[in-house]
Amino acid sequence: MFEEIIKKNNCFKLICGAGNENIEEVEKLAFIYSKAGCNIFDVSANVEVIRAAKRGIERSEINDNRFICVSVGTSEDIHFSKAYINPDKCKRCLKCFSVCPQRAIKSCVVDETKCIGCQKCYRICAYEALEIKNYPTDIEKIIPTIIKEGIDCIELHAISTDEDEILNKWKYINDNFDGIMSICLNRSKFSNEKLVKLLRKILEIRKGKSTIIQADGAPMSGGVDDYNSTLQAVACADIINKENLQAYIFISGGTNSKSRELANLCNVNINGVAIGSYARKIVKDYLCDKMSFEEALNIAAKLVKSC
Ligand code: SF4
Ligand code: SF4
Repeated sequence: MFEEIIKKNNCFKLICGAGNENIEEVEKLAFIYSKAGCNIFDVSANVEVIRAAKRGIERSEINDNRFICVSVGTSEDIHFSKAYINPDKCKRCLKCFSVCPQRAIKSCVVDETKCIGCQKCYRICAYEALEIKNYPTDIEKIIPTIIKEGIDCIELHAISTDEDEILNKWKYINDNFDGIMSICLNRSKFSNEKLVKLLRKILEIRKGKSTIIQADGAPMSGGVDDYNSTLQAVACADIINKENLQAYIFISGGTNSKSRELANLCNVNINGVAIGSYARKIVKDYLCDKMSFEEALNIAAKLVKSC
């Protein structure tokens, strides 16, 4: 059933955030976007988060064609990092607080359950008080636990220079999980040629099984709704497209309401659009009870429709 939906080429995947362990937020996101027509819900590899997403979908009373994808990561991938404020260096200027899209900073302390590692705080701090720490997934520990929750897809975030780690983690998941697998990659660590070469190795391991390649543009770009923000995702998909690889293609990273249109204009074939920052940003007032359900649903449904 999941694959039938992907084959329709108009999938919408909501990225709740690979590092987003805010249970309440994930449940609300799953609820509103399930109501709005979203098919796939991408969540962090945390049992409580998976359950929260499922609760949100159940509450929407639309259980058909709703699928859970769990994101796991490699050591260097930005999606698996968290910010930390060094209290000895912090001048309490609050600049980081105002740029945080997750409202994860309170009294100069980062709430790790909310932090998605976007690094906006790190870039704005003038006092080097912010540090970014990586939390790569302990695959052998996590995979058996999350599989028990009944999930449809596992996505490996592989924006990393460590090819051995990527292939070992990919192989481990392939050997232990029967569902669809997805690999999220972009060109930031590779040349186009290296990216394609790595993807061929990835697909060789998956021979005879279904795989999604998620072409990532500018990860956690901040959710600006213009063509330029989504350009790199479409460009990355174009490179993969031209290789005729045996995989479904999604785009992510800087994706927004213009993504599908730009892909169509460029004749880039994609099976789906995955949206994180922008999708969360447009309903952020609903997430903190400052927007009505009806208004949020209208906004979310428009975005889903555009994809
Ligand atoms: S921007 Fe830097 S100095 Fe200012 S509150 Fe944040 S961590 Fe502290
Ligand atoms: S700005 Fe980004 S990295 Fe910093 S605390 Fe917020 S979510 Fe985490």
